[in-house]
Amino acid sequence: MKKVPFATKEQLEDICRSYPTPFHLYDEAGIRATARAVNHAFSWNEGYKEYFAVKATPTPQILDILHQEGCGVDCSSLTELMMASRCGFSGEEIMFSANETPAEEYALAAELGAIINLDDITHIDFLKETIGYIPETISCRFNPGGVFQLSESEEGFQVMDNPGDAKYGMTRPQLFEAFRRLKELGAKRFGIHAFLASNTISNDYYPELAGQLFQLAVELERETGADVCFINLSGGVGVDYRPEQPANNISAIGGGVRRKFEEILVPAGMGDVKLCTEMGRFMLAPHGHLVTRAIHEKHIYKEYIGVDACAANLMRPAIYGAYHHITVMGKEKAPCDHKYDVVGSLCENCDKFAVDRMLPKIDRGDLLVIHDTGAHGFAMGYNYNGRLRSAELLLQEDGNVRMMRRAETPEDYFATLLWP
Ligand SMILES: *Cc1c(COP(=O)(O)O)cnc(C)c1O
Repeated sequence: MKKVPFATKEQLEDICRSYPTPFHLYDEAGIRATARAVNHAFSWNEGYKEYFAVKATPTPQILDILHQEGCGVDCSSLTELMMASRCGFSGEEIMFSANETPAEEYALAAELGAIINLDDITHIDFLKETIGYIPETISCRFNPGGVFQLSESEEGFQVMDNPGDAKYGMTRPQLFEAFRRLKELGAKRFGIHAFLASNTISNDYYPELAGQLFQLAVELERETGADVCFINLSGGVGVDYRPEQPANNISAIGGGVRRKFEEILVPAGMGDVKLCTEMGRFMLAPHGHLVTRAIHEKHIYKEYIGVDACAANLMRPAIYGAYHHITVMGKEKAPCDHKYDVVGSLCENCDKFAVDRMLPKIDRGDLLVIHDTGAHGFAMGYNYNGRLRSAELLLQEDGNVRMMRRAETPEDYFATLLWP
């Protein structure tokens, strides 16, 4: 789909008068619209809840907006739990899906009443030793091993991932054993969770995963007598980072999951199972822009445009070669007849937001919008080269802009140092 920024050049220049580039800007209206579409797509399932993956965008105002839309949160670290709690999430609004989990994190999760999703069978005893009991509601993460593959979709984008190589979750036999053991230790309400493929562009990923988990749930109930109350499809629903990619259709995805539910769970007498999702990317990625300004142009063996953002603000292109679309503001109608590498200032040659990208002629001072940075964008930021993390701003529904996080200052960078 054509990529159109959610703010105009005039709006962005106006914001730049108060907040210097680079900054991350988020679109409240878009976030709410997606949350509503997701909730609508699964509204056929009583008790459905999206637990937003905090790691994608750990920003309190964003979590608050999602909370208002009925979402919970999925946390995987101590500070994420602390943030969720401070934002007013409590009890079963919090899913705790961690791995290699330190004791103090289980302790806080239990204190908050979060649903704990165990990543490994050895964590049953670890949890019991840590908090002194096994919670009545408990979840286990499943890893089927092997390769996860969806048949070629109509659009020609194939989904493939490699659970057999992933560190997460329990094997099938372990899962059965874990349910028996947890039941002995007092667990009453069980959940299963799996995350088998990342950034999927296919309306078939969730339905395929759901089919596998629903079948497993039926067998788990039958063989262990455990009461499976919820099934967590986790994250992995992707976004169309490239304009030529098809977008996922969440209502088709919800409908596909519903068919599996009616085919497998309902006949097994398990029509009261609640579904959960833990989407991060799908909820937020399209609703964030990294806004940056061209500050240099350089002509050597290739044409370079230097911008004031760098991989410390958005790491995905540098580490995964990920594509993020770029709009040169005010030049939307100009022909894309210049081939550029759009680069940041890190002393690392991978610090390139775009390589050999056809764009309109860029002049110093032009504002660039880097698209789809609302999830796994700011959150993956770091301080290499002494670069400072930018501000995060919210374009509110009323058109006003609110700062949600200030930019780091050199004092922040020096704050943890002990000088000789
Ligand atoms: C990262 C993660 C998610 C979110 O993944 P997305 O690809 O952003 O949807 C959900 N659950 C767990 C356990 C994760 O680690």
